[in-house]
Amino acid sequence: MDITKIIDPLNDAQRSAVTAPNRAVLVLAGAGSGKTRVLVHRIAWQIRVEGVSAYGILAVTFTNKAAREMRNRLEELLGLSTHTMWIGTFHGLAHRLLRRHAKQAKLPDTFQVMDSSDQLRVIKRLVAGMNLDETKWPPKQIQWFINAQKDEGKRARYQLETGDVFQRQMLAVYRAYEELCDRSGLVDFAELLLRAHELLRDNADLLEFYQQRFLQVHVDEFQDTNTIQYAWLRMLTEGKDNLFVVGDDDQSIYGWRGARIENIFNFQQQYPNHQVIKLEQNYRSTGNILNAANKVISMNEARMGKELWTEAGEGELISLYAAFNELDEAYFVVDRIKAWINEGGLRSDAAILYRSNAQSRQFEEKLMATGTPYRVYGGLRFFERAEIKNALAYLRLMSNRDDDASFERVINTPTRGLGAKAIDDIRLIAKDQDMSLWSAAIALLKQKPMAPRAKNALVGFLELIDRLSTQAEGLELYEKVQMVNEQSGLIELYKNEKGDRGEEKLENLDELINAARLFDAEQENEENLNELDLFLAHASLEAGDMQGEEFEDCVQLMTLHSAKGLEFKLVFLVGMEEGLFPSQQSSDDIARLEEERRLCYVGMTRAMRQLYLTYAESRRIYGRESYPRPSRFLREIPAECIQEVRMRATVSRPQAIVKSVDLMAQGRQFKLGQRVGHAKFGEGVVLQLEGEGAQERAQINFKQAGVKWLMLSYAQLEAL
Ligand code: ATP
Ligand code: MG
Repeated sequence: MDITKIIDPLNDAQRSAVTAPNRAVLVLAGAGSGKTRVLVHRIAWQIRVEGVSAYGILAVTFTNKAAREMRNRLEELLGLSTHTMWIGTFHGLAHRLLRRHAKQAKLPDTFQVMDSSDQLRVIKRLVAGMNLDETKWPPKQIQWFINAQKDEGKRARYQLETGDVFQRQMLAVYRAYEELCDRSGLVDFAELLLRAHELLRDNADLLEFYQQRFLQVHVDEFQDTNTIQYAWLRMLTEGKDNLFVVGDDDQSIYGWRGARIENIFNFQQQYPNHQVIKLEQNYRSTGNILNAANKVISMNEARMGKELWTEAGEGELISLYAAFNELDEAYFVVDRIKAWINEGGLRSDAAILYRSNAQSRQFEEKLMATGTPYRVYGGLRFFERAEIKNALAYLRLMSNRDDDASFERVINTPTRGLGAKAIDDIRLIAKDQDMSLWSAAIALLKQKPMAPRAKNALVGFLELIDRLSTQAEGLELYEKVQMVNEQSGLIELYKNEKGDRGEEKLENLDELINAARLFDAEQENEENLNELDLFLAHASLEAGDMQGEEFEDCVQLMTLHSAKGLEFKLVFLVGMEEGLFPSQQSSDDIARLEEERRLCYVGMTRAMRQLYLTYAESRRIYGRESYPRPSRFLREIPAECIQEVRMRATVSRPQAIVKSVDLMAQGRQFKLGQRVGHAKFGEGVVLQLEGEGAQERAQINFKQAGVKWLMLSYAQLEAL
């Protein structure tokens, strides 16, 4: 047995993690220290040395891409297929469980997964149906509420109502939403997790089966697990110490979505025999990049504290560019990328990382203008496009007539002469008689006289779906898709649409046939479940917010959130401005600010060799013009790690940054995050510091008085 391949490419600390005795292990270590590598090698070790069968392996990662990469690396290490291992995202694995045990999970066999835009649409309709004013009860906010409840494992029916009107209304919508989803066989992302948890909790025999099956459970990016995900892991490993987790508290960036950093502490308490292993050598970045990132993250109060070092040498300085505006910023970045490619660099080794999706457009335009291939992650991906969703909705209805979200989507697409009145009638019946829209449509035909045109249209639609589903029997998956494209009338519809858009939509529909042809149901499941349902679920999961597509040789554009776990030789962190990064919402809340800082740390540590930071002196975004100040994170980088790049003669601000960094080094009276007292405003927390000497100012968030800028020479602040 050749285990050198597993052991040799590891340092001592990594090796001790990989070969640790079989008990709970927590690898807690900074970015680029080899956590993911350790996890993969640990699995290989267990199979090769400990004799664990591949069937007994469960591994959870954060994105589909990471899961695919893990499979590839394992296959390479082991020289065998990873087919029987359960490797995937929390959502993907939860989905697999629910498909296998739909009945016990109280779901119809044909249940459909909604992505978040489907979910929002359903909520919108519900809000309208309940006669609530959308401006007072924004559907988006309700969606957040519902998902947050589910992430915490809370069902609407088990919650005590307080006297609070707001909460009572939110719960009422949540309850109605649950009923609608149950009736329609619809499952949103948060529901996948919650229901998979309940499935095991409420079915002792199943739980026991999986507890015995999964001999070893592994989790990457453990710091970003939420309450329900952790509870699920706990259940699967109950009574055994077979949980191996790797993570980094400094990279916890999903707190706003329910991630619980406390899970790291809970783990340590709840697995008393656990072993903690720290890794301190970074293999990814040069010294300058690492020192700068270490310094920035050290400004956070809430951290476990660890240092990273590298043997890589200092490398190039980090470059800072002050752009005149967002166009100039894009011009600069694309110019640098062109230079990189001319010097022989690969496009796919270059990444542009930004805080918000809306920033990508400028870069896309410039890249397009220079003919540089690029790929945007997290934008509107293939499975999220309207034409694709329409075709999928037909397929969904063929599988599950009660899927209300799909019914709504295509009842009148393409238009078939059904007026708003008829559709409203259907909704009304569905609501009154507590049935799906499909059943309500049938009831409407029976119960009420209708205008002949509307009646024909409705009968035509119902018959179309029934016919499609009969004809689909025995066809290959891609043939089913092809049939739907043709017979649904969607091809006709887009053929008649003028301009490039129609053309593009037709191409996308063709691409969907391709996707179905290439779809490998085996990868998704080791059992023979309905291939169409698996494909549809795959489409929803791929459209999830956190997923990325496969790399090709093109420049990579993505939000900082989706860059987690990845690495690139050349990284541009753009839009380093107050109000954008850190975001506006976080500027007066210290916990959120610290999460933004972790995000900055994640971004900087993606870079292997070269890191560029840019900001614009004026920016037009979300339709507004603003003159932002440079991000405070820039000031937190030691001056010796950074160099200014000048493209224009008149750049004023970077000077100020370098200067204030020097000031930092001399030591100020107050630290960021420090609690202070003021005679008039009371107690507060220091959010920002700037200026020097008599000009020194601080931004303070006072508990009572709110956020204020104060001159320190007058304010007479007292450190608490
Ligand atoms: P992140 O916190 O960003 O997820 P990580 O801790 O998971 O990072 P990896 O992605 O596993 O780190 O490793 C970072 C880089 O260092 C990878 O390119 C990996 O191949 C390389 N690496 C890790 N350990 C070693 C080692 N012992 N020798 C050489 N290269 C290594
Ligand atoms: Mg990793």
